[in-house]
Amino acid sequence: MSYRAWFQCINPQCGATYPLNSIVYHCTKCGSLLEVQHELEALARRDAQGWMKLFEDRYKSNQWPYGSGVWGKKEWILPEINDENIVSLYEGSTNLFWAERFGKLIGVNDLWIKLCGNTHSGSFKDLGMTVLVSQVKQMISEGAPIKAVVCASTGDTSAALATYCAAAGIQSIVLLPRGKISIAQLVQPIANGALVLYLDTDFDGCMRLVQEVTKDETLYLANSMNSLRVEGQKTVGIEILQQFDWESPDVIIIPGGNLGNVSALGKGLMMMKDLGLIEKLPRIVVAQAERANPLYRAYQRNFEDFEPIQAQKTLASAIQIGNPVSYQKAVRTLKQFDGIVEQATEEELADAAALGDRTGMFNCPHTGVALAVLIKLLKAGKIDKSQRVVVISTAHGLKFVEMKVKYHQNELGFPCRYANRPIELPARLDAVKEALNQALAKKIEDHA
Ligand SMILES: *Cc1c(COP(=O)(O)O)cnc(C)c1O
Ligand SMILES: [Zn+2]
Repeated sequence: MSYRAWFQCINPQCGATYPLNSIVYHCTKCGSLLEVQHELEALARRDAQGWMKLFEDRYKSNQWPYGSGVWGKKEWILPEINDENIVSLYEGSTNLFWAERFGKLIGVNDLWIKLCGNTHSGSFKDLGMTVLVSQVKQMISEGAPIKAVVCASTGDTSAALATYCAAAGIQSIVLLPRGKISIAQLVQPIANGALVLYLDTDFDGCMRLVQEVTKDETLYLANSMNSLRVEGQKTVGIEILQQFDWESPDVIIIPGGNLGNVSALGKGLMMMKDLGLIEKLPRIVVAQAERANPLYRAYQRNFEDFEPIQAQKTLASAIQIGNPVSYQKAVRTLKQFDGIVEQATEEELADAAALGDRTGMFNCPHTGVALAVLIKLLKAGKIDKSQRVVVISTAHGLKFVEMKVKYHQNELGFPCRYANRPIELPARLDAVKEALNQALAKKIEDHA
């Protein structure tokens, strides 16, 4: 059976289409964003049971490339790509675990964390990048004169791009805002052989430049404005449902910056509904940092208008974005999924991340934003304690240790409630015993 997919303008008044191998990031007729559209009638010829069985049979198998969480759903992603052009590092299929103790602490029993950062480059960006780089490899094999793939990044997109390009033998170029990403994020593209441009600006500044640079068609744009990324990232919602035996949770909370990921989450879930795999849609909550909250502000105004802002420095550096490219798609998703947008202050996000860590997680600050928002929505009664809630953890905490170190040294300029400082003492038995006595007495008090 053969399936087809193409780029389509998201503006319903326009609807222009373009083949997936054309170098186009916006509709050339009306300027709107594009999305990958699938031939649903063809996909619907296999029934819902058939798709669920196929996806389950492939899940985590070593049948290359279908063991990948993304390529196991190839027909829904890029049906026409040749397997030999797929650049996969076995991404996706990340763990979804019951956060029992954290849930009890904050008053929700059925809380689950989807650890999207437990993957090759340490963030969910791998899910989209495997698709984009595979399509580039296919285009190069068809003779397209692409010399390099380029992105602007708050750190994780560039790490994923550099990794997949290195695996494919394609040159990558990354534009990064100097001093606004973590050391781990900076060293990833360096190690993977990317051309790294470190610029005195913020993400929005890098994004403006990359859009200029990629007017040269030999430099292919890899930001999520390129909707190929969204196709891979949309598997996260499908995978969560599969992990729950195809039953929808009540709420999914996701941190948002450029808003490609929430759009992707919605797109995957909607496709499942259209093809009959699920009936009920979960509610989607976008969590933003208060210092970079253009979506939250627009939500307060009922999405009547949108104003880009100058994003302020935030610990949640991967979502320090003032002019999100996928705003329109995100609003559409929020309207379809009875959406909520909530924000978290620096103190709230740092404490929530640290409290989660105390229960065995190791959260990145963006996951901290999502956890803080969960706490606030529970307090406000907008999420009920009996509901099944999934928090999407977007990156591995090890990419953001600078922030954790400062937190535990109490150096963030607000009280760090859960700071845990190492005790420095001479290497003598009496000193160690004395320290243990004091510390254990205090711990027992804390737990009483
Ligand atoms: C990219 C990223 C986000 C935000 O995703 P968007 O698609 O830009 O909204 C959140 N958390 C982490 C760790 C990221 O790398
Ligand atoms: Zn158009």
